[in-house]
Amino acid sequence: MNVAVLGAGYAGLKVARRLEQELPAHISLTLINDSPTHLVQHELHRTIREPSVVDTIQVSLREVLDSVELIEATVTDVDPGTGVVKLDGDDAPEEFRYDFGAICLGAETAFFGMESVQEQAVPLKRLSHAGQIRDDVLALTESGGDVVVGGAGLSGIQVAGEIAALADERGATDQVSVRLLEMADEVAPGFAPEFQQAIRAELEGAGITVQTGTAVTGATDDSVQTDAGTLPCDRLVWTGGIQGATTMDGDRRTVRADLRLSDSTFVVGDAAKVVDADGEPVPASAASAIREAKTAATNIARLATADSGLEPRLDRYRADIPGWVVSVGNGAVAKLGPQVVSGGPAKAMKATIGAGHLAGVSALRQAAQLAEAERAETRRDETRRDETRRNTPALSPQSIIGGATAPRHRYHSVEMISLANSSIAVSATPTESVRLRNP
Ligand SMILES: Cc1cc2nc3c(=O)[nH]c(=O)nc-3n(C[C@H](O)[C@H](O)[C@H](O)COP(=O)(O)OP(=O)(O)OC[C@H]3O[C@@H](n4cnc5c(N)ncnc54)[C@H](O)[C@@H]3O)c2cc1C
Repeated sequence: MNVAVLGAGYAGLKVARRLEQELPAHISLTLINDSPTHLVQHELHRTIREPSVVDTIQVSLREVLDSVELIEATVTDVDPGTGVVKLDGDDAPEEFRYDFGAICLGAETAFFGMESVQEQAVPLKRLSHAGQIRDDVLALTESGGDVVVGGAGLSGIQVAGEIAALADERGATDQVSVRLLEMADEVAPGFAPEFQQAIRAELEGAGITVQTGTAVTGATDDSVQTDAGTLPCDRLVWTGGIQGATTMDGDRRTVRADLRLSDSTFVVGDAAKVVDADGEPVPASAASAIREAKTAATNIARLATADSGLEPRLDRYRADIPGWVVSVGNGAVAKLGPQVVSGGPAKAMKATIGAGHLAGVSALRQAAQLAEAERAETRRDETRRDETRRNTPALSPQSIIGGATAPRHRYHSVEMISLANSSIAVSATPTESVRLRNP
């Protein structure tokens, strides 16, 4: 019997590693991926500012898998009904057949038919995209210009934060303007309002212009067209949405909580639109992909080892993500249960997630490297903040509350504490502090 996993992102690598444990030796397990490495995609934006983490966020599949047969090839077609997969790769067979398979091919950037945006914009799905964004932003720190990020989901928020931080590190905040556009009324659409508001505050504190309720409609080489008018733009980064992989005809297949698409085929991670056991749509994210993968692997193992003629009970995925953390340059915002936290604790949480994922897939060397890179970044940040503190006169709270034109610096943190009587205390301090909101 053949079991196949297509794609080695968060979903595919997790499914393959679990099946290594759960399948008996006589069942052959094959992982097909278009590259020899697993990319820690949720850290991709960091390479815009810190190219040294490029090696750290790529994990050799051979080093972290034991008994799986690896095929490096592009899946050009897959028939979920028959389990026939067409492949394109130097040393790969043209065709592969599975008895049970998991489609974990992720998603591609969606341009929603806007050809001019597709021509002008750089998406952020691959390391080469991050490299191009870095080069363009560095050029703009010399010449001056406008960067527009279209789409304020998890990736857009974080890429805007990195671009602003890169410009800041180069002393070019006056030369490079960063604007984040979002069609919905708030950033991080679909997330809780208190999380959205805290992220917006963090973005604006980092000097990013946040423009919500504005849809991108087109682009030229020096402008972005929106339904609210034309904006100057020297580099457009497009993070406005995802669609299924080309192999899947651009479709993200809808699956229910058992993640099963057909008798033999499961779809996991961004490749799927998952409706969980409570009937809730599951957000496309690394966090969801990893958790769905456990359910899919368990179900595949049960089916593959079931006595013939017997249909085993299948597990159902229930979205159980304990919280969310997004970085915004040197800052971060976390939502844990009902609480929203910014500043040092959120940053610390963010730092542990990437390293935790790497350790979880046995990439211990890279986990240690990423943790060290985080520590180095924190040290640099603290040094810069100390310098700022020495050079900047303290602001009075009134200067902010009254909206006076006090000089703004990104390291002045604005504390917003929801009080029991719902009044908001606002103050400005030259220190980074924890902001805790009780909705
Ligand atoms: C900048 C950025 C920041 C993000 N931040 C967060 C975050 O903070 N938190 C969070 O939870 N999520 C975040 N995400 C989203 C997260 O990265 C994705 O949801 C996650 O990668 C989905 O995992 P996946 O396994 O479904 O797909 P992927 O990780 O995309 O993996 C797909 C795999 O399939 C392979 N593949 C694709 N097509 C083919 C083919 N035709 N043939 C063979 N192989 C193929 C790919 O090479 C890859 O190995 C972020 C994404 C980006 C881009």
